[in-house]
Amino acid sequence: MAALFKDRICAVVAAPTAREMQTQFRHALKFTRTVELRLDYLEGPAKIGRFLRWLGNARPRADMIATCRRLPVGGRFEVDKTNQFLVLHSAWQCGCRWSDVEIESIEDSSWKLYFLGDKRVVISHHNFETTPANLRKELRRLGWFNPHAVKMATYCLNYRDVLRLLSLCKGRRDVIAVPMGEIGLPARVLALKHGSALAYASVGEKTAPGQLTLDEMKNLYRADKLDRRTKVYGVIGNPVAHSLSPQMHNAGFHARRINAVYLPFLVQDLRDFLRAVPPLEIAGFSVTLPWKEIILRHLDECDPLAARIGAVNTVIVRGNGTLYGRNTDYVGVLRALERRVPLAGSRVLILGAGGAARAVAFALAQGGAIVCICARRPEQAQKLARDAGGEFIKRAHVRREFFDAIVNTTPVGMHPRTGESPLAARELNTRLVFDAVYRPQRTKLLQFAERRVIETVSGIEMFIAQGTAQWEIWMGQRAPEKVMRRAVMAALRKEIQG
Ligand code: NAP
Repeated sequence: MAALFKDRICAVVAAPTAREMQTQFRHALKFTRTVELRLDYLEGPAKIGRFLRWLGNARPRADMIATCRRLPVGGRFEVDKTNQFLVLHSAWQCGCRWSDVEIESIEDSSWKLYFLGDKRVVISHHNFETTPANLRKELRRLGWFNPHAVKMATYCLNYRDVLRLLSLCKGRRDVIAVPMGEIGLPARVLALKHGSALAYASVGEKTAPGQLTLDEMKNLYRADKLDRRTKVYGVIGNPVAHSLSPQMHNAGFHARRINAVYLPFLVQDLRDFLRAVPPLEIAGFSVTLPWKEIILRHLDECDPLAARIGAVNTVIVRGNGTLYGRNTDYVGVLRALERRVPLAGSRVLILGAGGAARAVAFALAQGGAIVCICARRPEQAQKLARDAGGEFIKRAHVRREFFDAIVNTTPVGMHPRTGESPLAARELNTRLVFDAVYRPQRTKLLQFAERRVIETVSGIEMFIAQGTAQWEIWMGQRAPEKVMRRAVMAALRKEIQG
């Protein structure tokens, strides 16, 4: 099927002034030759006129989609349908071959004239709250006008919504599926694998919930390279937006020229996600909080070490659809710590008793350390202490004792709540502090330790070690560790600068 647009990634240019629109437009053309111009973001008719005059003179070689969405249907254009029509007509005269008009405007009879001539129209349906039950009926409503393309942009509350929306693309080249919201985010990329004519990405301000930036869409997920054969991997968690696993794994795929993509899946309901694994053709996924222990109940088989730990951070989806679990946090923590602390005979305090804590406790105990567990739920800490052959320690007793190392495995201090620390500076009676939290790299806890001249180890070391081990399990080949580390460090640097 011939493609409708020059490029399948569509950059969304949206700014309040003509000058900013021009800057964004020039930037967009470095990535793609398909650009949506959100004329409704320009503040008033004079600015719209100025930008369109510039466009008319520049006549760029791109598929330009003019959009002037009205206020009642999620846009910013405050005037009526007639003026909307006039703006789109001017845009057409200035070289926009395409326009995107919402169904609510087009159903007005005077708009029928708009389909005369060689104008190309996308008729769109938006729902910023949900994905309606009658999606196919809506699609037929858009198709009634026989436009060149139809766009369904709906808010996805779960993966069932995502699948229903993506299924609209099957066997068609004229459907644009836009899954909105954080659950929809990975599907914005996967939409291209499932046949959507376009995937939108912002250049400046985001114009829809869950929208990705052009840089993420093109350089991180390489969405325009996706095809039916692309293997899909990802990380499941809640929250998941903080994860740097996409940067790390995608860099590895790119370096080894593997046709695969790794995406962040926000999972609020594990069963809902697991039902979507076969239709989304997911071949494997990482597991982060709060699912590392719960996932065990849903696996068909599990590596004996992961079963003993009672937590899984790596799932392999086998050819027949069955799920196999492994734990690479175990090797991750050993690689991060073994050169810094002689484990045998050392006393290590572990804060937290969740999935990461279990892997850390088993790994360190196996290495000969005496593990002491302290968690906000004493019964959970006592259980882990029993399972790993360690000691339970009450929170109030921590400051009285001395440890060779303290390991934080709670999410306290993790982005965005970076001002928090699980312990106060005066409670750090230890030689070394290791924080499993890796974003930010220098957590509050590590800053306290540095201030007291205590050696620190960032969670990044464990993160990279567990991630490369995962990558090797899925790919069956050696991971390009240097490239993957560079990608993670670059993302962290960008965060500090940004
Ligand atoms: P998890 O299974 O949900 O366990 C979290 C543990 O921390 C639980 O014991 C939990 O107690 C406790 N906790 C949560 N919030 C707390 C708070 N405000 N105060 C005190 N305790 C709290 O999560 P996880 O998968 O183990 O992950 C924990 C952290 O480690 C995350 O930040 C994750 O990013 C990080 N991690 C890093 C790496 C790495 O490679 N660097 C690997 C794994 C995990 P309750 O059960 O009472 O909620």
